[in-house]
Amino acid sequence: MKVVMAKKAGFCMGVRRAVQLAIKASYEAEKPVYTYGPLIHNEQALKLLEMLGVKPLKKIPSKAQGTIIIRAHGVPPQDKKNLKEAGFKVIDGTCPRVSRVQALARKYSREGYHVIIVGDPDHAEVKGILGYAGKQGIVVSNFRDLENLPPLKKYVVLSQTTQDEEFFKLISEEILARYPGGKVYNTICNATHDRQREVRNLCKECDAIVVVGGKHSANTKRLAMIAREEGKEVFLVETAEELDLGKIQKFRKVGVTAGASTPNWVINQVIRTLEELPSPYESPFRRWGRKFLRFLMESNLALAGGAAFLASAVLLAAGYPFKISLALLSALFLFAAHTVNRLVDLKSLRLNDPFRAQFLEKNRKIFAIATVISFILSLFLAWHLNPAAFVIVSFLILGSTLYSLPLFGRREHFSPVQRIPGARSLFIALGWWSILCFLPALVFKYRPVLFWLGMIVFLVAFMRAVLLELLELQGDGFVGKETLPVFIGPRKTFLVLKICWLGFGFSILGGLLWGGLMKEGVVAFLAFIYIYFVLRQYEKELLGRDFYLELLAEGLPIITGLSLLFAVGIKGVVSQE
Ligand code: SF4
Repeated sequence: MKVVMAKKAGFCMGVRRAVQLAIKASYEAEKPVYTYGPLIHNEQALKLLEMLGVKPLKKIPSKAQGTIIIRAHGVPPQDKKNLKEAGFKVIDGTCPRVSRVQALARKYSREGYHVIIVGDPDHAEVKGILGYAGKQGIVVSNFRDLENLPPLKKYVVLSQTTQDEEFFKLISEEILARYPGGKVYNTICNATHDRQREVRNLCKECDAIVVVGGKHSANTKRLAMIAREEGKEVFLVETAEELDLGKIQKFRKVGVTAGASTPNWVINQVIRTLEELPSPYESPFRRWGRKFLRFLMESNLALAGGAAFLASAVLLAAGYPFKISLALLSALFLFAAHTVNRLVDLKSLRLNDPFRAQFLEKNRKIFAIATVISFILSLFLAWHLNPAAFVIVSFLILGSTLYSLPLFGRREHFSPVQRIPGARSLFIALGWWSILCFLPALVFKYRPVLFWLGMIVFLVAFMRAVLLELLELQGDGFVGKETLPVFIGPRKTFLVLKICWLGFGFSILGGLLWGGLMKEGVVAFLAFIYIYFVLRQYEKELLGRDFYLELLAEGLPIITGLSLLFAVGIKGVVSQE
């Protein structure tokens, strides 16, 4: 089925921040750890937080100990005070955008203004803002409420951050018409604005809309309402299991959006379920093509192919004779090392990509056997190359296996090495470099060009790993993995990727100018352009969290290998002439 994903969907900045604070507190803060009320309006995320030991607290006890996190919606100031007085260590997870509305309410009420809040009186955020407005606060949720307004002279109108844009515009205009001279602040946050604009755009190109989010989430319900107003059939679901597949199947193109408190993995599962749905409008070629590509990626065969390509390219670009055993060894070792890592650590995969986790669990035996055979074959091939290669490959196998195993017990099942921020992608890149560049240097004589090719390989492997980690950011965060994106956030990670991309270009240049890469090696800049394209797509949020980013990331070693092979091929043709 053709599925179009809204560019902005899922966790907004405020929810992400609150969830990260809660996850961090579950590891580091004084126990027990509570949230004051449910942290966000999403059952699946809340269950996971409970598994980390973070439980919601409904009432403030007179005496307490431990830590409490104030949720993204915020609370009235009195509640904050009571929590501190009860003995809790308070972590304020109030979204900065909600804090701004609270600050406006406090400022104007102190100056003697009436504070009109356009929003749902039962919503936690509105109750919190009302607390800051004090006796001057009035909540208006519909036009009928305007009849009960007191005579207003000095007043300010604020909106709940998740309010509908159109409604707020109309009702604030009506208030101004009845009581001229008031101040109006549109405090609807960008995340809400963007999601509402996006769902309107989706409605223009899709036949039906699936909205994923908690049943109690105000912004999720609003997205569904907007899509209905646009005349579309709407499916509001909390999880993929709730999808009415029989009904959805009749639509040609389905748009998917999600509320600001919906985790990525829930959205991914919905998208994946829809994509798997046979549709009379989709050509079998396209459907089976996508399935085949997925299989190559999920089984790590795409990775093994990329490794073989890149290994062959390195050998030929360095001017060594082509040795199929080295290319095969690279493919086998990297396949096995990545597979063992996946098999041992299915926890975050179950969140990030449940379909892939199911696939691996279903075929666990086959993959386990394939991994062992691949490691043994790598050793066998290494032994036939030379004893030094055998020693290096043995160390690499030992290192990759030990890295994957939960060696040191708890701190939620990760070894100290795995807890070094960004260690995973660095180790992966080091593994690729060792097998693709260090091994040829041992087997043949070292050549200066190998230094530059080594840089290229290291950076390609690193960028591939980090791009994939970006896709798994939320699930990794929940299970406490300190990948680079979890540790420094997606924006800074993206900056790191840009620097790597520049480093990649510099390495090709270095190979050409100082390393002995023939001038035909300039073709390798094709890979440089390819990486630029991938990063641009990601930056423009055209790829989001889906299949295509993974496909493009897996394509990095293949395209780099191909462009280097192409360069060597041109050189061969030129020298024959
Ligand atoms: S929707 Fe906006 S105001 Fe609400 S938590 Fe998210 S970013 Fe903050």
